[in-house]
Amino acid sequence: MKQINAVNDLLSFIQLIKQQNKTIGIVPTMGSLHSGHDSLIKRCKKENNITIVSIYVNPNQFNNKNDFLNYPRTLDADINRLKTLNCDILFSPSDKEISKILNPNFKLKLGNLNKYLEADNRPGHFEGVINIVAKLFEITSPNKAYFGEKDLQQLLIIKQLCLQKFKNIQVISCATVRNAGGLAKSSRNKHLTEKELIIARSIYKVLNEVKKNKLDWSVKKAKDYVRKYLNNLSINLDYFEIIEIEKFSFTQEINTNCNYYAMIAVTIRETRLIDNLKL
Ligand code: AMP
Repeated sequence: MKQINAVNDLLSFIQLIKQQNKTIGIVPTMGSLHSGHDSLIKRCKKENNITIVSIYVNPNQFNNKNDFLNYPRTLDADINRLKTLNCDILFSPSDKEISKILNPNFKLKLGNLNKYLEADNRPGHFEGVINIVAKLFEITSPNKAYFGEKDLQQLLIIKQLCLQKFKNIQVISCATVRNAGGLAKSSRNKHLTEKELIIARSIYKVLNEVKKNKLDWSVKKAKDYVRKYLNNLSINLDYFEIIEIEKFSFTQEINTNCNYYAMIAVTIRETRLIDNLKL
């Protein structure tokens, strides 16, 4: 595996790859890699000649300074993991290198995607995500880009980014990887104690309970159920909503013609976790 830190070195490498008519897949990450990331990288390896994994803890997408400062950084372990996966290129730039890439000067039409849930709870977060992903797309010109369904709202926004600004890039969505107890893998799980990791399994448990009862419960009943269930476990509920995925709109009732997702964000002590489940 080749590790590249400088934008100019990456640009030269990409030029070479393009001359050889090889396809490029990119997996943007913030590092502290786990098996959720592995699944994206493995799929990328299968579908492209060259796999680029980027590791960059992007300060602009953190709306909370402590979250940024405490975000787990495990570059040496990440490098070993990427070598085992036979990743071709690790791009791990500094802030200074990233600042050498021009800021994209467009505004996406995102409608509800930039209004509700994570957009509402983390002001500026998606602007930061769009900025860094657009920069990475700009310098790597990938054929395909891999994103996880765990961050569903982000995935839908990146799909819009490609539809509106990077039409040649195909966004590949990858299923959420969970641990044996059902907890979605996340770099932030490293902040949880053994006991909290067990409690956190309830997030997926309540989502499944809502799914099981989707035709019998009103949305209000589902919301009350989730709030009470998590409250009893001292899990702080940031939001629980059922959205219709096409319009990314809140729904008050479920009918069988539309596609719905249960979307949840919680805080356990100081660690914020998100998850979702297709109903
Ligand atoms: P992050 O490093 O958390 O920014 O995540 C990088 C990419 O990995 C994003 O596209 C995430 O959606 C994806 N990802 C993170 N956790 C998981 C997971 N448990 N399952 C699938 N994809 C994931």
